Amino acid sequence: TAPLSEVDPEIAAVLQGELERQQSYLEMIASENFVPRSVLESQGSVLTNKYAEGYPGRRYYGGCEVVDVAESLAIERAKSLFGAEFANVQPHSGASANAAVLHAIARPGDTLLGLSLDHGGHLTHGMKINFSGRLYDIAAYGVDPETSVIDMDEVRRLAIEHQPKVIIAGWSAYPRQLDFAAFRAIADEVGALLWVDMAHFAGLVAAGVHPSPVPHAHVVSSTVHKTIGGPRSGIILTNDADLAKKINTAVFPGQQGGPLMHVIAAKATAFKIAASPEFKERQERTLRGAAILAERLLQQDVADAKITVRSGGTDVHLVLVDLRDSELTGQDAENVLHEVGITVNKNSVPNDPRPPMVTSGLRIGTPALATRGFGDAEFTEVADIIALALQPGADLPALRARVAVLADAFPLYAGLNPSGHA
Ligand code: PLP
Repeated sequence: TAPLSEVDPEIAAVLQGELERQQSYLEMIASENFVPRSVLESQGSVLTNKYAEGYPGRRYYGGCEVVDVAESLAIERAKSLFGAEFANVQPHSGASANAAVLHAIARPGDTLLGLSLDHGGHLTHGMKINFSGRLYDIAAYGVDPETSVIDMDEVRRLAIEHQPKVIIAGWSAYPRQLDFAAFRAIADEVGALLWVDMAHFAGLVAAGVHPSPVPHAHVVSSTVHKTIGGPRSGIILTNDADLAKKINTAVFPGQQGGPLMHVIAAKATAFKIAASPEFKERQERTLRGAAILAERLLQQDVADAKITVRSGGTDVHLVLVDLRDSELTGQDAENVLHEVGITVNKNSVPNDPRPPMVTSGLRIGTPALATRGFGDAEFTEVADIIALALQPGADLPALRARVAVLADAFPLYAGLNPSGHA
């Protein structure tokens, strides 16, 4: 019963330091968010003690009658939130959800067709040294070099050429919506299954501010911790009863042992929150914030510094900044923004002349700041700070002070300790 601060002061200091970092910086990593206190409570709870291999009502361990309630709630809420007939809520992460999807719908050696990593795809969509690239034959589509948008004629041409078993639609760094119906038509034409990985935009889908892939895809996977703002974890959805059975088997015993019941309980809460009007309003602010940022970064002073926005804007929660013509590399830009108190990540852009640890791009997202309470006025201010910081000769200390004003005006986890307790 001794507290963390006594048992392990070094780790207690890490938790406190990270809380203070999150409070004092403006978080604009597009894949991050702030979970509510209610989610912290489940994740730091006694549910972490419980083994529950199997599924609700069909477990390989005794004493699961209480945690069964949590998993059943998570399943029902996920189904209702996304309008799906089946949900598996056990994947520990987005990558493990994706491993289970491929385990369920493909065999090693089958061909997958997905968006290439350097054009915004995810590691699990066929990157060479990821399990997906090692186990499967990979064909990849990219974005159009002129428009930076996925060209569906090109996807169709590649699908006809490679005859994939699975077509993957989904991204980690792409600023536009996908045409799910067009992907499905191509999948049907070549006899492939369509798997949509909506990890990034699932919160937008849940809020109804982005088209849903669920009616079009054979399988949909997602993380729960990006735009949804829940615990770090994954889910898998389908409307196909045969695939549902295969997915359950692929997750357990195919990929995982005991599910993380503390995380599953937190997922249930996250899905409950995601069905609320406040959540929809937050996703609307997220989208407007990204649009405001794109618009500011397209203004002349930024263009004069040879910086632009890929695809000329955004219709999701992130903006991809293109630094290929700028003296500033992605790493430099990440460092400059860190100096003014804004956290982002460098990101390769399509046909990036610089190596992956340097890059010529930035990915900047608005979900975490929208959760923090930012609206149009604050996003306008933060967009201006970013636009100025990226230009030569910027007054970084003055911009740091403007960031501090915003951070102070929107306190995060006020009055709570790093575990979410008062
Ligand atoms: N799928 C996509 C599209 C992602 O962007 C990510 C995370 O960046 C994942 C899957 C993997 O999620 P995780 O980091 O939880 O394994």
